[in-house]
Amino acid sequence: MDKYIELAELIFPDVKETIADLEKRYPARNLKEGAMVTRFAPSPTGFLHTGSLFTAFICQKFATQSNGVFYIRLEDTDQKREIKGAGEALLKELKAFNVYPTEGYLSDTLEEGIYGPYVQSKRADIYKVVIKELIKRGQAYPCFCSSEELASLREVQEATKVRTGYYKEYAKCRYLKPEEAMEKIKNGDSFVIRFKSNGDEKNKIAVFDEIRGHLELSENDQDIVIYKSDGLPTYHFAHLVDDHFMHTTHVIRGEEWLPSLPIHLQLFNTLGFEAPKYAHLPVIMKVENGNRRKLSKRKDDEAAVSFFLKQGYPTDGFLEYLLTIANSNYEEWRSENLDKSLYDFILTFSKMSLDGALFDLDKVKNICKELLSRLTKEEITDRALAWANVYDKELEEVILSDRNYFEAIMNIERGGEKPRKDYTKYDEILPAISFMYDKYYNEATRESFNERISNESAKEVLTKYLEVMDLTKDEVNWFNDLKSVGVICGYAENNKEYKKNKDAYKGHVGDVAEILRVAIAKRRQTPNLYHLLKILGKEKVKARILETISVL
Ligand code: GLU
Repeated sequence: MDKYIELAELIFPDVKETIADLEKRYPARNLKEGAMVTRFAPSPTGFLHTGSLFTAFICQKFATQSNGVFYIRLEDTDQKREIKGAGEALLKELKAFNVYPTEGYLSDTLEEGIYGPYVQSKRADIYKVVIKELIKRGQAYPCFCSSEELASLREVQEATKVRTGYYKEYAKCRYLKPEEAMEKIKNGDSFVIRFKSNGDEKNKIAVFDEIRGHLELSENDQDIVIYKSDGLPTYHFAHLVDDHFMHTTHVIRGEEWLPSLPIHLQLFNTLGFEAPKYAHLPVIMKVENGNRRKLSKRKDDEAAVSFFLKQGYPTDGFLEYLLTIANSNYEEWRSENLDKSLYDFILTFSKMSLDGALFDLDKVKNICKELLSRLTKEEITDRALAWANVYDKELEEVILSDRNYFEAIMNIERGGEKPRKDYTKYDEILPAISFMYDKYYNEATRESFNERISNESAKEVLTKYLEVMDLTKDEVNWFNDLKSVGVICGYAENNKEYKKNKDAYKGHVGDVAEILRVAIAKRRQTPNLYHLLKILGKEKVKARILETISVL
């Protein structure tokens, strides 16, 4: 028997299947021309990073807009780094952003689709088939170098100023004869399996990236580890086998993987598999002290998507923001298509930015504010309630105590050409309107008036206002009443009048409104006063005014 075959049989005696069997088990997908098959392939090593949400969302968007397939694969081959429960937690967070696969890993006990298993640690047998074939062909070999040996190799390379790594003359085990390797294996020596590269670092290879276009990268000459001593492959090898048998058409992933592309293409070539198309997305950056740096898990709260979920940023607002950093024409499209859903936008690789995208929290806020202002009162109530159900029991209670009342508050200056932009995220709602509920009103401390207003004068204004209060009037007439009360009490009808002759007045009508506002809300800033009064209703307004008079 050929010595390489003998070696392969010695290493994988139980592996009987062949690549051809796998091809049969995972037949080509039956999809229309142009349909993209994309995947999000997280490692369960922690929380969902904002950059990962970006990648996952872009993958989903390309798949759905082309009537393709978006699936999720859990890449857990680095079991030392795995965090229990992280896979399911990632899925939950993705789902909160409506980024959900139609196929693949759905939970630790559930998956969908015929190309599974979709968890790499459950695919060990599949990888072994392919590795066995590579060993048979003499394109992969066992390496017995210990970590100490590899460390000292590195030291020597550093000291002699040569490129570090396991390649060419430094790849000691590559030169072992199959007989020698078999001897060691029979001896019980521990080993990994390396890919035998026939590349040359000095050669440039032409690669094509969907976003970056034609690139020239150095050919790979490293004999990378493809199979570890724990029986699982490394990322490089596993993703390649999976993308082949799961029939991924486009590998869309972070820019940090671009340098590995020559290795991946070389592996595809060696195996005779057709490589998918590759697109490397820009990394999300942040400016700090004038310098750009990657959004960092350790330093930046906004690096974790939970930051946005907990505070109640509308998730579709956040996705819109991600579209603005994905495609340079998104904002223009949005301003011309205010009534459309963000999913109607057609994402393209050609409009993707190449430089690291700068993360801009203010822009996220503006987009979210705009979005919340365009909702109907029912929509914002539904969304606030759904968020409160998970993150804020107090708000949930407030809404459920009287949904119509809450909706009426939400409806203040909503609708029309220029709706009010009161809220950026759901956690701002309760603090902004809590005074509309007695429980919170009673607990609150009253803000003081501006310095022009004395307590005596405020009392007089409130007393006189009570005499004329009529909330059945329209806003203009109601305001006229307020002005008249102000005039009787020594306040100018408007700011202009007041400015002309400050000494003649105690203040202006704005101050009069402030007195009333502080009385009913205990604060100087509120949404539209007229509407607040109407929603509170005559009795409650009267009671709050009387209470205020009594304590001033
Ligand atoms: N598991 C890799 C990661 O978490 C996925 C890279 C890829 O999409 O190919 O970064």
